[in-house]
Parts: sequence; structure tokens; C-alpha cells
Amino acid sequence: MLEARGLTVRYGAVAALDGFGLTVPDARVVSVLGPSGCGKSTLLRVIAGLEPVEAGDVLWDGGSLSHVPPHRRGFGLMFQDYSLFPHLTVADNVAFGLRMAHLKGERLRVGVAEALDRVGLRGYERRSIGNLSGGEQQRVALARALAPAPRLLMLDEPLGALDRTLRERLVGELSGLFSELGLTAVYVTHDQEEAFSLADRVVIMRAGRVAQEGVPEEVWARPADEWVARFLGFANIVDAVVTDGYAQTAWGRFPVEAAAEAPGRARRDGPARLLLRTEALVPTADGALQGLVVSRVFRGGRYRVEIQVSPDVVLQMELGAEVTPGAGERVAFAVDPAGVVVF
Ligand code: ADP
Repeated sequence: MLEARGLTVRYGAVAALDGFGLTVPDARVVSVLGPSGCGKSTLLRVIAGLEPVEAGDVLWDGGSLSHVPPHRRGFGLMFQDYSLFPHLTVADNVAFGLRMAHLKGERLRVGVAEALDRVGLRGYERRSIGNLSGGEQQRVALARALAPAPRLLMLDEPLGALDRTLRERLVGELSGLFSELGLTAVYVTHDQEEAFSLADRVVIMRAGRVAQEGVPEEVWARPADEWVARFLGFANIVDAVVTDGYAQTAWGRFPVEAAAEAPGRARRDGPARLLLRTEALVPTADGALQGLVVSRVFRGGRYRVEIQVSPDVVLQMELGAEVTPGAGERVAFAVDPAGVVVF
């Protein structure tokens, strides 16, 4: 198990890490998700032992690694673009880490064959990198990272440079491989879809700190604050005054049940901010809210629809293809309290 506690790294006035903490249980994938510049690469360098800290510690199974040099930590890295050597064969690429560990001859050959076998590329030794598909290249990079049998694998935006279609397919493949191999891994990305589909737990990072941590479904359903909600792409956020289980807003009055409190927020009446998640808006003929559809975007089986409910308010909702009104049509909808979050 990996633990990072209270990590602080400063570059001049910038705190790249500001008391950051993280736990990665054995055979689990934890994703660190945050915008560019929030400190993700710094975190990986600290865990790898390549970056000194001003405060905090990195531990493995409870023991501090502060005096363990990088090559003794037993951690592997997989980078963006895979950084494969295009002029070498698959075998020579995979052998790279094993040669660093002074493996030679038959032991090297067996090590390479086993690593390729683990990622489903048995017999690929003599192939050249340039003739492989994107998915196969990714597997070679994974085999190379796994060949020295690291106890922790760190992945730094491994799909960052690929086009969207390929990325979506590879996310599925990687996710399957991770659970098959029982990997203990930290997966760093700025892409929420990647983080949410690959990880057992997600840590949302903002300016060197933990903004929220939890299982993907939990974080998605209950963003901890307005910043996290907006970072995850939620847009229906409004000022509210909460009294006796109801929130009064410029958009109307909505029931707010106890479960809708953002995590860590004490339930109390008074001024607040309210998030209506896209699925909280449910089309209903006699719904209290009404508006005109201003745009409709198809998103894989569902539509993201924008509805103008007043001159300066546009709400987003998500609808199944079978019930979706087109631009210019009037819709009425109700608010499902289960999709409302109070900040
Ligand atoms: P991310 O990987 O999330 O994009 P980084 O860890 O690369 O973020 O950077 C976090 C912050 O620290 C940024 O503001 C970046 O400019 C700064 N930073 C990172 N490395 C250095 C460095 N070697 N010297 C000065 N500033 C740095």
C-alpha cells in the first residue's frame, strides 16, 4: 500500500503541492484528476523519489521511503506517448527496464516473453513498433513498465496525446487489463472520462491540494464544492436560500433532501449555492419550470439540451433520444430532489 502524507513542494512563491495526501491500497487503481498545472507531475516525481519535499512523507506498507533512492523503490512509470523507441523491436523495448536491472541472456529473454504474455502480446518479440496499432503500442509500453515487476505503477497522462476515438477504445482495454493484472497504480490525468472509467478511487486535485476524494460514482453524484462541480462539467449552479428543507432560487423553489448536502457540509438553513445536476431536470408535461430549447447536442445515446428559462438563465439537461425536443420547442420539466446538491 502506498501512502503520501502532507506533501508540500514549493517553487518560489508557487506551492506545486500544498499538504497533499493520497492512499493507494494494494491491487487498486487511484486516479489523480486535475487541471493542467495543479501539481500532478510534481506528485509523481515526489512518489518516485526524484523531487525533494519541504514537508510530508511517502510510505510503502507503513514504512517511510524518505531514505530510499528512486531505483530502490520498485516503482514503474508509463508516460504520455508511451515513449517507445521506434527504431527498436518490441522485444528490445520491453527489455529496456530489465537490462537496467542487469538481466541478461536467457533470463532476459524469458522476462520479455512473460511481460508480453501478460498484456496479451505473446510472440510479438520481433515486430517493429511502427507496424503496431495504437492499442498494441500501448500494450508494449505497459509490458515494458511491468517487466521489472514494479510493486506500484505510475501512469502520467498515458493517453494524453491520442485522438478521442482511439483514447475511448484504449480506456476500455486498459481498464480490463488493470483489473486482470491486479495492478497497484496511480493514474494521473486531466481527462475526467479517463479518470472515472479507469479508477477504483478518484482524487480531485486543485492547486496542490485534495479538493475531493472518493469512489467515482460518489464524487460524480456529490461534488464537494462548486469548483469541483464546474471542473466536472456541471453548469446549473445558482444562489439559494435554504429554509426548512426547501431552497428558494431565481429559478424557483426546490425541495432539498438531507442526502443532497455536499460531503462535509453541515446541514443548515441560510444562504447557499445550489447545483441542479443535468439528470435532476426531468421533462414532465405539468412541470413547474418551462423554457425554450436553444441547443441540442448528441452525446452517445443521449442528448445534452440547453433550455432558456428566462432572458439570462440557460439550464442544461440530459435526455434520452426518444423524448428529445428540438431547438425552438417549448418544454416543461420538474426537478428531481435526488439530483440537487447544496454547497
Ligand atoms: P501538472 O502536472 O498538474 O500540470 P505540475 O506538477 O507540472 O502540474 O506543476 C505544478 C505547478 O508547479 C505549476 O504551477 C508549475 O508551473 C510549477 N512547476 C512545476 N515544476 C516546476 C519547476 N521545476 N520549477 C518551477 N516551477 C515548477
